[in-house]
Amino acid sequence: MTAALPEPESTLPFLPYGRQVIEADDIAAVTAALQGDFLTTGPLVGKFESALAATVRAQEAVVCSNGTAALYIAAKALGLKPGSKVIVPSLTFLATASAPHLAGAEIVFADVDPDTGLMRAEDFEWALARAGNADAVFNVHLNGQCGAIEAIHEIARRHGLKIVDDACHALGTSYRLGGAEKMVGENALSDMTVFSFHPVKTVTMGEGGAVTVNDARLADALRLHRNHGMTRDAEEFETTEDAFERPGHPNPWYYELVEPGFNWRATDIQCALGLTQLAKLTRFAARRRALAAAYDSLLAPLKPALMPVAHTECLPTLHLYPVLIDFAACGHTRTEVMARLRDEGIGTQVHYYPVHRQRYYADRYGHTDLPGADRYYARALSLPFYASMVLSDVVRVAEALRRVLHL
Ligand SMILES: *Cc1c(COP(=O)(O)O)cnc(C)c1O
Repeated sequence: MTAALPEPESTLPFLPYGRQVIEADDIAAVTAALQGDFLTTGPLVGKFESALAATVRAQEAVVCSNGTAALYIAAKALGLKPGSKVIVPSLTFLATASAPHLAGAEIVFADVDPDTGLMRAEDFEWALARAGNADAVFNVHLNGQCGAIEAIHEIARRHGLKIVDDACHALGTSYRLGGAEKMVGENALSDMTVFSFHPVKTVTMGEGGAVTVNDARLADALRLHRNHGMTRDAEEFETTEDAFERPGHPNPWYYELVEPGFNWRATDIQCALGLTQLAKLTRFAARRRALAAAYDSLLAPLKPALMPVAHTECLPTLHLYPVLIDFAACGHTRTEVMARLRDEGIGTQVHYYPVHRQRYYADRYGHTDLPGADRYYARALSLPFYASMVLSDVVRVAEALRRVLHL
């Protein structure tokens, strides 16, 4: 069952909940980029975008400085503004809500399944009913899973909502749709998909993010909002007397502000790393699947006090390996369990404190009762999980958990 895992790497004295895997070719590629003519936007930006689009089978990818920026430019490209409303599941990282909120939208938080952390169709419908109406849904592929994306797509389209997938956890995940295998990022059931390349994510650029899209106009809008809200496209120039030397001949220095924006560009240095990392995705994904299978079988005897997060019907490349623990039944608080595991050299983390409970949003929108998000949060603990882990690390974590929880 787990014997197929190769065991070449050395085990770390302290096992973090997640970390990057940087190899010699990654270092060589970054070094070459540093010796090149471009440090920021150069040829590697387009190369990375093509490679990412091909990997997830999207028409285009727009790379930017991080996943939060990717969520923000997605919100801007959709035209979200003050008065807009966006549905966001509460069990996610802050950025899924804060990015569209910073674009001006108000957020309506949806509940999630207490056992998977994913928004269900009924959670989405209830949030829509509370919202009255909404402009978009930013759905989350928590841990790398998919959930009810077909039903969510059907409901969103019926109500005229745009769909952005926050797939920061789900690079390499696929699912079946009408007999065919679809990649997360291909946008078969969404308008845009957002990825992050932070060091704990499945592949890294140090910092980095991207949006994949199949609509050329949305892609243009994403590039506009990545780069100060300015355009160098002569066809879009409106101040023609300053823009053109004579008709058809734009001045070489000229650019035009469409709407004030930020600089969210990615550098050639980041994209050099992104390219070598992306080439390892198949290997990293296989490794993550093998590690998850090893955890699943080693932790099975600890049920029901400790339950691996329920898997949904897709082919996930898991980003995290969370378990749900009945801390009261084990006689320890989560803080105590985390401290004892830390003493044994095992790092853990909680993903996530539900965003609707953050003081800022609770003050702004009043208390929202989302029992599924609360129940998932109360039990969640992410165990060490990264592509250079070895089987003996998984065994070490499982044994420490059994000891610490007295199971
Ligand atoms: C990591 C992450 C983000 C933000 O990405 P950054 O690259 O860290 O800005 C957004 N949403 C989710 C679900 C994430 O895990």
